[in-house]
Amino acid sequence: MTSALMSSGEKDALRSALSDALGLRAVLSGADTEGYEVDWRGIYHGRALCVVRPEDTQGVATAVKICRAHGVAVVPHGGNTGMVGGAVPDESSTQVVLSLARLNRIRDFDVIDMSMVIEAGVALQTAQEAAAGQDLLFPLTLSSQGSAQIGGILSTNAGGNNTLRYGNARDLVLGLEVVLANGDIWNGLRRLRKDNTGYCLRQLFVGAEGTLGIITAASLKLVPALLSREVALIALPDARSALELLSRFRRYDAEALQAFEYMSGVGIDLVLDLIDGITLPLAARAEHYVLLEVGSSRRDVDLRTMIEAVLGLAFEDGVALDAVLSESEAQRQALWRLREEQAEGQARAGKSIKNDISVPVSKTAEFLDRATAACLAILPALRLAPFGHLGDGNIHFNLVQPEGDATLFVDRSEELIAVVNAIAREYGGSFSAEHGIGQLKRDMLEEWRGGVELDIMARVKAALDPDRMLNPGKLLA
Ligand SMILES: Cc1cc2nc3c(=O)[nH]c(=O)nc-3n(C[C@H](O)[C@H](O)[C@H](O)COP(=O)(O)OP(=O)(O)OC[C@H]3O[C@@H](n4cnc5c(N)ncnc54)[C@H](O)[C@@H]3O)c2cc1C
Repeated sequence: MTSALMSSGEKDALRSALSDALGLRAVLSGADTEGYEVDWRGIYHGRALCVVRPEDTQGVATAVKICRAHGVAVVPHGGNTGMVGGAVPDESSTQVVLSLARLNRIRDFDVIDMSMVIEAGVALQTAQEAAAGQDLLFPLTLSSQGSAQIGGILSTNAGGNNTLRYGNARDLVLGLEVVLANGDIWNGLRRLRKDNTGYCLRQLFVGAEGTLGIITAASLKLVPALLSREVALIALPDARSALELLSRFRRYDAEALQAFEYMSGVGIDLVLDLIDGITLPLAARAEHYVLLEVGSSRRDVDLRTMIEAVLGLAFEDGVALDAVLSESEAQRQALWRLREEQAEGQARAGKSIKNDISVPVSKTAEFLDRATAACLAILPALRLAPFGHLGDGNIHFNLVQPEGDATLFVDRSEELIAVVNAIAREYGGSFSAEHGIGQLKRDMLEEWRGGVELDIMARVKAALDPDRMLNPGKLLA
């Protein structure tokens, strides 16, 4: 749809039409657009014709209609924490970035329905705090929650640390309000727990990365607040023990399991060595760790005794080597920091390859062992720092360059990526468990999901956005 041949007069005309309709304050151009043109990892650098920041749903619809009339594509932009370059424009300077940041109102709460209706630009952390203010919990948590917005969270179907218990973003949506490619507004902000009235349209837009419509508000499920909570860091002899421990905790009290996060010894060492103010509260470093969180909406549940009972047996059986339980909120946060700083520790260690693999949970240990051996066979000095949501079968199988010169690492990166992907495929896995496709993984989709599956996706896109107005070049080629 976008014309790479737009004249500067045509661009001025579009900017004027947008500011006439939405106000001068709503349209950014020149140097003010810079922050919207690069993704947070600094991989993708685009150039926007302008950035438009409507303040309400009607404003989003108006902006889309104006862009459409001018033959210009729209790139929805949330908190810009996405991992795959989905929220930045291409380099043509002919796409309009549409920021949802000013749609930041909490519209409604219902404590009995345990739901809230909030706008797309509300930051995840603000949504969590608002729910907590009603003694309820919005249970999606991830390290980027201070910046990531509800619209972006839903558009990427974000997972995070508590998927194990509460599901992905998809599982927490009751209804949506969406501006379509033709500027129509679909108000599907129902908060029904049961509603079998045809196709489940809201789920079409969840995980669509802004290619099918622009989410302007969502009706979200809340759950009871946690009144008891325990966190443990556990050192393990091998990856297989992590899986064994998961199943032991599940057998004991599956309901209580909130998070079950794996971290490699290498990843923990990078955090301890390269980030100030973090210490390991265990007697010795290990090669494998799990960070476990359990929680309950009851105050009278003795979660600590449960953890100690499972761990006691695990020590006897050699499934666990050592463990520490948090004694206070500050210690809980300190333990979580070991997990949350994994990406930063790796970033400080030099170049890295990030993978977002998922395999069936039962295959995670085999996957870790085989992928580790295969990568080390290619480059023995490689630092392998896998971590992530082992309880969901989702491992960020990240590879960090050997210490010193990165040339060999860069030269062999394609081979390393290919070998990891090949093993994941053998287990029927995914190459993008929670980060989506965006620009980064678009060309992998054909290989992994080609044929009938990709054809269905292309047909859905053609039905909802025949002129490729919305986020062209992302997700689908
Ligand atoms: C430190 C860190 C940790 C992270 N941890 C996790 C994790 O554990 N799990 C996980 O799943 N992700 C994680 N992420 C990735 C990221 O935070 C999520 O993908 C998040 O959901 C993106 O939200 P956002 O508002 O920043 O979206 P953006 O990056 O702004 O946009 C993401 C995509 O959604 C589209 N989009 C944005 N808003 C809308 C809208 N309102 N309507 C339609 N389309 C829209 C954009 O066009 C783009 O394609 C992490 C990122 C960081 C930086």
